[in-house]
Amino acid sequence: MSLSNKTIIVTGASSGIGEATAKTLAAAGANVVITARRTERLQELKDLIEKEGGKALVVTADVTSKEDWKKVMTETHKTFGKVNVLVNNAGLMPLSFVENLKTDEWDKMVDVNIKGVLNGVASVVPDMKETKNGHIINISSVAGRKVMPAGAVYCATKYAVRALSEGIRQEMGPKYNTKVTAIEPGFVATELTNTITDEDVQDMMSQFEDLTPLQAQDIANSIYYALSQPEHSSVNEILIRPTTQE
Ligand code: NDP
Repeated sequence: MSLSNKTIIVTGASSGIGEATAKTLAAAGANVVITARRTERLQELKDLIEKEGGKALVVTADVTSKEDWKKVMTETHKTFGKVNVLVNNAGLMPLSFVENLKTDEWDKMVDVNIKGVLNGVASVVPDMKETKNGHIINISSVAGRKVMPAGAVYCATKYAVRALSEGIRQEMGPKYNTKVTAIEPGFVATELTNTITDEDVQDMMSQFEDLTPLQAQDIANSIYYALSQPEHSSVNEILIRPTTQE
């Protein structure tokens, strides 16, 4: 299905799931707004998308900054017009055991994984109230359904993302014809584990060594699936694991 009439913001587009999603949606014809903090990576992605005939706008932004979100919206409106879709993907996963008191990392996860998502929602809701055809896609996780050791805070943020998604859907679906989808991946091969500093967690991660992980493209495909359904059909959740993940 062509997404050629859609303007789509993808947060965390500088790597992993966000990068694959931006490429996939641009290839389907969408105007993609790619945001993250690493401008160089975003610029490389824009060049690639344009080389393949797609359209992309780079806006460097930190999802925790309301000022940066204003910039994202201003630039988007100027270049592509109203936002049809937001893919709230930016996130961090510095797993740690509670007793190790990595409290700065707890704060960061709450700031990026929850408040960053809320900042995105607050930015696009006015457009979606007006157009009455919006779609918000939030990246939660299997960790939003199942708590694991060293994941107390990360899982809490991903449970929050699922709760927010359902709450927004209940309010914005009936009143403003807005779709909301929570995507819940299992283990995906990306740079996400690079943020782990707790050495005790490294042993625990070895359980994933024998696993054939999902690829970022698998998640991009799920997002494309949710976006390519007819107007009356709102895909609320997609739970997707590697076949051999417990
Ligand atoms: P990556 O580490 O590859 O991507 C994370 C992205 O988030 C980067 O583009 C990073 O960009 C961006 N980001 C981080 N902090 C900020 C910030 N403050 N402001 C703006 N952007 C930020 O990991 P993934 O692709 O795996 O992660 C994407 C999402 O998928 C996350 O929400 C993650 O929790 C979720 N997820 C991942 C799973 C996995 O196994 N990989 C499983 C389930 C869910 P930059 O540093 O340039 O700002």
